[in-house]
Amino acid sequence: MANPRRKISKSKRDKRRTPWMKGLEHPSLSVCPNCGEPKQPHRACSSCGYYKGQRVFTPTES
Ligand SMILES: [Zn+2]
Repeated sequence: MANPRRKISKSKRDKRRTPWMKGLEHPSLSVCPNCGEPKQPHRACSSCGYYKGQRVFTPTES
C-alpha cells in the first residue's frame, strides 16, 4: 500500500501551510533568451515581451 511512513507532525504540517514560505521556496529567475534580462520562468519577458521566440505583447515603455 502506498502510504507515508510517518504521520506529519503538527509543526511540520503547519509550517507547510504558512503563506510566507511560498515566496522563499522558489526564488524564481531565469534569463530571457531574447534580451538577456532576468525574468520569471514560464512567463513572457516583461522588458521585451517575448516568450518562446515569439512576441506575445508589445512592451509599453522601451
Ligand atoms: Zn526579454
